[in-house]
Amino acid sequence: MSFICDMCGECCRNLKLSPIYAELDDGTGKCRYLDANRCSIYNDRPLICRVDDAYEAYFKDVMSKDEYYQENYRTCEYLKNRRD
Ligand code: SF4
Ligand code: SF4
Repeated sequence: MSFICDMCGECCRNLKLSPIYAELDDGTGKCRYLDANRCSIYNDRPLICRVDDAYEAYFKDVMSKDEYYQENYRTCEYLKNRRD
C-alpha cells in the first residue's frame, strides 16, 4: 500500500492553510520550491512533505496507515474542490 498522488500541486500552492509550512511559503501561499507544478527539491523535500515518512514520525501511534491515507485523500479533495 502506498499513497497515490496525482501531482496536481494543490497542496504546494495552499501553504497558508497550515502554519507548519510557513518557512516554505513564498509569500503568496505557494511553495518557493514549486517549479512548473513540480517540486524542485523533491529528493530533499522536508519531512512534512513526505507522506509516508511523516506517518512514521508523527502519526503511527495515533492512527492506522489506512486512516492516515484517508485523511490525506480528504485533504487532497478539499484542496482540489477549492480551485473549482
Ligand atoms: S493535493 Fe494531493 S494529489 Fe495533489 S499534489 Fe498534493 S498530495 Fe498530491
Ligand atoms: S518542498 Fe516540494 S513538496 Fe514540499 S511544499 Fe514545496 S514544492 Fe511541495
